[in-house]
Amino acid sequence: MNYLSTRGDTTPRKFCDILLEGLAPDGGLYLPDHYPQVDTAKLAAWRELHAKHGYAALAFEILSLYIDDIPAADLKAICAKTYTAEVFGTPAVVPLKELREGFFLEALSNGPTLAFKDMAMQLLGNLFEYELGRRGQELNILGATSGDTGSAAEYAMRGKKGIRVFMLSPHGRMSAFQQAQMFSLQDENIHNIAIEGVFDDCQDIVKAVSNDLAFKRQYSIGTVNSINWARLLAQVVYYFAGYFQATKSDAEKVSFTVPSGNFGNVCAGHVARMMGLPIQHLVVATNENDVLDEFFRTGVYRVRGAADTHETSSPSMDISKASNFERFVFDLLGRDGLRVKALFGESLAKVGAFDLSGDAAFRDARDRYGFLSGKSTHADRLATIRQVFEEHGTMIDTHTADGVKVARENEEAGVPMIVLETALPIKFAETIVEALGREPERPGKFDGIEALPRRVQVMAADAGAVQRLIAATCN
Ligand SMILES: *Cc1c(COP(=O)(O)O)cnc(C)c1O
Repeated sequence: MNYLSTRGDTTPRKFCDILLEGLAPDGGLYLPDHYPQVDTAKLAAWRELHAKHGYAALAFEILSLYIDDIPAADLKAICAKTYTAEVFGTPAVVPLKELREGFFLEALSNGPTLAFKDMAMQLLGNLFEYELGRRGQELNILGATSGDTGSAAEYAMRGKKGIRVFMLSPHGRMSAFQQAQMFSLQDENIHNIAIEGVFDDCQDIVKAVSNDLAFKRQYSIGTVNSINWARLLAQVVYYFAGYFQATKSDAEKVSFTVPSGNFGNVCAGHVARMMGLPIQHLVVATNENDVLDEFFRTGVYRVRGAADTHETSSPSMDISKASNFERFVFDLLGRDGLRVKALFGESLAKVGAFDLSGDAAFRDARDRYGFLSGKSTHADRLATIRQVFEEHGTMIDTHTADGVKVARENEEAGVPMIVLETALPIKFAETIVEALGREPERPGKFDGIEALPRRVQVMAADAGAVQRLIAATCN
């Protein structure tokens, strides 16, 4: 399997060549040069394998189709070490819960940080450690977070050989629970830096440091952002696992609804569907930041400025542009890299938008690729959290509530609907209290984490100071 860029660079690259990289050199995103096809015989074999040997075995089968530069035995061991009941809370790893007939929640949020990003990040941690060890290299991961991504990255990289994490967060602006999750880590390779500023200041520092190419090279600075192909690939597995749990035979189809921000999660669903998984519809659920819903309704993709980007009660979906969306548009336009380059490299850079409404390809988004979409607001979230609790006795988080709301609007008779549960309610307790008048349950392992000793340094919003800290830590 070789990888190419969405903007036309077809230099063949292997999985491990792109594993530690972000964007392709031409500014595009990496995709496999084809999607391996899963025929009915293979699907039946995987159903049985999943039932008998579980999630890790299924993950190995799927990953091996895309990774041919790690020996099979090593890849198998990495999958087995990653997807355990111990790390993900249950032997099923991603158990389904049937709320009513034909309507399911797929639990992706029982990992170490209680959000679906653990599903991919835990694998990434093990792949990074393996590949860096093979090359005899080290990596300093520099990131900015307002919550979920940073904690998932830290819990994935803690204690890993050859890896240090420098995670910037806006001082005093994360929820108490999120701060406690990150700052209570005592691992020596994890460095929490609380920046006196807002999230954008943190992101600007990451950009400034990454743009200092000499520094970046000298200190092997890397990232773990959502455009990393390995993260997306890891997520493909739970679409298959969800399908096998919701159906009895491979003649059945299901639909998925995915609470979406950067389009990483649902893009993995697109890949699963392209491989032949019988998915009827992929329903994109957004919050008030409805860049994606607008595209699927109108054909116009319009990135938002800071003033138009809302702070909502499903904050992990608060995006101004959807960084993985380019991957889908590449497929939608028949893999025409030059056109993608014109849209994402030129139109977006110049006017912040492009319009496919007059293009036959736009209808394909729905008719051929199965995409539908919808939007949910704060009032919808509150009503949905209340209703699911009253009718089913189940507490859902704010992001999952956006999914449930939009899923209901897109159900079809005879097609099971699976909503991806992307976080547990305890992470967003304030809104749960607003909706239900009571605190969400807290998994036992998080009891009292707010009182644990903290490992964090507060710093001014100054890229130079962050560089000095990285240099001093490495020397
Ligand atoms: C990151 C995140 C999302 C959005 O996922 P994308 O891959 O960016 O679309 C949704 N819900 C939660 C809880 C998240 O952490």
